[in-house]
Amino acid sequence: MTIEKNTLPIKKKASLTSRIVIGMVAGILLGSFLQWLMPNGTDKVISLYSIELSLKGFLVEGILEVIGQVFMASLRMLVVPLVFVSLVCGVCSLKDTSKLGRIGGKAVGLYLATTAIAISFAIFVALIVSPGEGVNMVANSSFSGREAPSLAQVIIQMFPTNPFESFAEGKMLQVIVFALLFGIAIALSGKAGERVALLFEDLSEVIMRLVTILMNIAPYGVFALLATLFTTVSLTTFGNLIEYFLVVFFVLVVHALVTYPVILKLLTGLNPEIFLKKMRDAAIFAFSTASSNATIPVTLETATKKMGVKNSIASFTVPLGATINMDGTAIMQGVATVFIAQVFSQDLTLADYLTVVLTATLASIGTAGVPGVGLIMLAMVLEQVGLPVEGIALIIGVDRLLDMTRTAVNVTGDSMVSIVVAKSEDQFDHDMYLDPQAGSNIENIDFKHLDNNK
Ligand code: ASP
Repeated sequence: MTIEKNTLPIKKKASLTSRIVIGMVAGILLGSFLQWLMPNGTDKVISLYSIELSLKGFLVEGILEVIGQVFMASLRMLVVPLVFVSLVCGVCSLKDTSKLGRIGGKAVGLYLATTAIAISFAIFVALIVSPGEGVNMVANSSFSGREAPSLAQVIIQMFPTNPFESFAEGKMLQVIVFALLFGIAIALSGKAGERVALLFEDLSEVIMRLVTILMNIAPYGVFALLATLFTTVSLTTFGNLIEYFLVVFFVLVVHALVTYPVILKLLTGLNPEIFLKKMRDAAIFAFSTASSNATIPVTLETATKKMGVKNSIASFTVPLGATINMDGTAIMQGVATVFIAQVFSQDLTLADYLTVVLTATLASIGTAGVPGVGLIMLAMVLEQVGLPVEGIALIIGVDRLLDMTRTAVNVTGDSMVSIVVAKSEDQFDHDMYLDPQAGSNIENIDFKHLDNNK
């Protein structure tokens, strides 16, 4: 069976981005409506032709949650094979593997630098606004943070003892290290290596096709995920935390819409407006899933098919970024530290703030790109400066929406750094970057030819 490579231009329908945005807005509206209909987790039964239907059991748990979870699972299903295969391909295509150290150095350096900028700015704004002043709250629910790993542990755990275990458990840093070593070995293996490299290139194309197929069902997935979520996210829990929420949100938005564009412009001279426009799909995916890891397939596709970053760079920088680069998370941690210190009336010194910047920047390396981990790593930051870890219980209620927003910022940072590294290595397709249509053919996949080939 031959599968045609090209997709046919089918009748003009809304672009994928618009469909995803529509799915997102419709999901939020439906979820909020359902919450209004069934406040505080109550249920509503409607009768349809003498059949009694429980809205919660049937619509929310039976349909929306199933679609949402299936979509999320399919995204996550792709992450390990995609990262492994495309990273191996990327390393092989570098030819000169000695470049790897330089590229890695640049990527890690930029990731850490942007995170340090993000958290410093967050602390600065939080100190000016003082969201915790006057909030006399006592933590009534206790938060027992899982123990955060030390830096030494993070380094040791980067190296897998059994790569299959790393694959099975989705330990991304270990998968990355194994893929790098495997790729280097292929590049050094002469004829045998060339054959294996060809196999990996084919595999990579097949997996990317799977990503494309998934992108086409994304509007429904995003709709279902957000509809389910908004049946429970309650805006009334905000109360005293509104100021904290707004400060984090404000810094996240400024970081994404001002800091990144400025860095991009300064380091590459590229027009940042194009960057932000092309980032939209990946940002919405990140927002809906609250997981940079689950968004890797989309970020990778955005970087290589829309932004013009060559696969040799993106296959390395995107998964690495999703694993170690957490600017959005660091912003939340910066504001949260100031907030908790103010709520518990504890003064922090300049040295304390520097410790916070350093710890949060390094902590982001150990923060996995999955929902909610940022809060766990916050425990480590708070402990470093002697603040009560129970403070986390105060902000947990509003964390989900912030998690979604900061994940969108995290993946935007990964893409920005990928472009900067690609440009500096001359692994960048400038025409693709400028082309507003680039990547649009991935949006109109036509499945008919699959039937025709039966
Ligand atoms: N959800 C974030 C991410 O996946 C991590 C976090 O801040 O909790 O990027």
